[in-house]
Amino acid sequence: RVTPVPSAPADLVEPRLNPNAEVVLTKRYLRKGPDGLPREDYRQMFWRVAATIAAEESKYSSSPYSVAELAQEFYSLMTSWRFLPNSPTLMNAGTELGQLAACFVLPVDDSIDGIFDAVKHAAMIHKSGGGTGFSFSRLRHEGARVGSTGGVASGPISFMKIFNTATEQIKQGGTRRGANMGILRVDHPDIVRFIESKARQGELNNFNISVALTEGFMQAVEKDEEYDLVAPHSGKVKGRLRAREVFNLLVQKAWESGDPGIVFLDRVNRDNPTPDQGEIESTNPCGEQPLLPYEACNLGSINLALLAKPEARDGVDWEELARVVHLSVRFLDNVIDASNYPLPQIGEKVRTNRKIGLGVMGFADLLFQLRVPYDSQEALNLAEKIMKFIQTESKSASAQLAEERGPFPAYETSVYGKRNEGPYRNATTTTIAPTGTLSIIAGCSSGIEPLFALAFSRNVMDGERLMEANPYFEEALKAAQAHSKTLMEDVAKKGSVAHMEHVPEDIRRVFVTAHDVAPQWHLKMQAAFQKYTDNAVSKTVNLPHEATQQDIWNIYWMAYEMGCKGVTVYRDGCRADQVLCTGETP
Ligand code: UDP
Repeated sequence: RVTPVPSAPADLVEPRLNPNAEVVLTKRYLRKGPDGLPREDYRQMFWRVAATIAAEESKYSSSPYSVAELAQEFYSLMTSWRFLPNSPTLMNAGTELGQLAACFVLPVDDSIDGIFDAVKHAAMIHKSGGGTGFSFSRLRHEGARVGSTGGVASGPISFMKIFNTATEQIKQGGTRRGANMGILRVDHPDIVRFIESKARQGELNNFNISVALTEGFMQAVEKDEEYDLVAPHSGKVKGRLRAREVFNLLVQKAWESGDPGIVFLDRVNRDNPTPDQGEIESTNPCGEQPLLPYEACNLGSINLALLAKPEARDGVDWEELARVVHLSVRFLDNVIDASNYPLPQIGEKVRTNRKIGLGVMGFADLLFQLRVPYDSQEALNLAEKIMKFIQTESKSASAQLAEERGPFPAYETSVYGKRNEGPYRNATTTTIAPTGTLSIIAGCSSGIEPLFALAFSRNVMDGERLMEANPYFEEALKAAQAHSKTLMEDVAKKGSVAHMEHVPEDIRRVFVTAHDVAPQWHLKMQAAFQKYTDNAVSKTVNLPHEATQQDIWNIYWMAYEMGCKGVTVYRDGCRADQVLCTGETP
């Protein structure tokens, strides 16, 4: 790279890591030598990232920071666990690979060339630690004529299996396994086969799938009407289905396995900030980042658990939050230029729209500290206030960067340019990521999710069991003189204290877990954050094992009415390979 990276000052503070973070970073994030042993320690790792991202600053003479100063700021921003960029940035910044974004969407054209180009490009992205989303809606349906051979097409689902197998073989350079999102429009002739595709165990295990629902389809469900299935390559109507039957099937399959999810594509495109740059047809694997074909986006998350300030207005340290947002936006904008992209088309699209996705983690931990139950109006109000604040401050930070560096190249023709708003440096600034690994590194609750369990025990080497409990929960028990070893063992078995009558009532009300929270409240929380988020919100609506298909129907409908961009449900115990379990998962 051309930009010189500053070396670490001698007095750089050693980061303090929790034991789980040490395991994760050592195994997957520290750079390794040819012998497989780490070539850097934690301090060097975070400096590598801070210095590489800060070095981009030297391109802009109008910056208020020197590179050395900014590198120090970024270093303490990360190692105080107030903000972390997405995993690929932590893993690859300052390395030869240098691919820093977590989210990609690739087009899949209706030709053998197009399909296998996409397979190859996806493999390159997976190798660098990124996830890929695809719409398969352009592929002609199973049984359609293939002009050049006179044969028949095998349809989107058969080709998805090839993507799946390719993904399986690329273990992401030893860091993480590839993840894919597969989307099909509800009016594609193969939609029924698609909805049923994940039921065949294993065939699409590297895919999350989602059905793209249109406004027209939702109206047909409401009025109990039929709708047209349209061949994508010819535009001809290939059949009609009763919308309610398709919706019922969707609900049934989601009840059985959690897949498919749904995405409201018209709505996503209504919020497309750069419609002149193309139509959004897919999201990244976990659904929080809708993108144009060939677009990528880097994400970052602010740890709200560390911003509790009970004596301040609404219990939040707003001043510190504003500071962190401004610094994080500068960080993420620099990541765009610091990153290598696996394809020239991707680099070009990314630099045209300059999307970034700043979000939050540790929200449940914040609520614990403020003694606000997750499933309460007060929590929804706080969620809206926080996200509105982050949205406003991130836009102001992006406007500041536009002044220093110029707006994103597609600004003039974007919705902002047309509204005379801004100018901004970035076409989007906010996204709520799942923070699956980041939350482990930062030692906080993930994304905006409630805790899965208040305590659990895990097997460590030599058959020993190690107990892990949420620190705010233990603190509260101790303050109420209700803490005991027996109680903690019991909590570790059950995950939750909802049904423990000997635990003080106020503690039971505040320290709720994902399964204590009714599905409607999960959704209300998603909608509260979505209200002030440019992109989308990663959220799982957890349902008890006993939930009915009608319950899922109601959740889907509620998501539609509350303005969500999509929804993912998960019924406890419906999959044999469930990742998160309490002692009592069926
Ligand atoms: N992702 C991926 N593979 C994984 C986990 C995540 O490709 O194993 C991508 C995917 O696009 C996902 C995004 O990273 O939507 C963000 O996920 P998360 O916030 O959990 O990642 P983290 O930065 O915490 O590792």
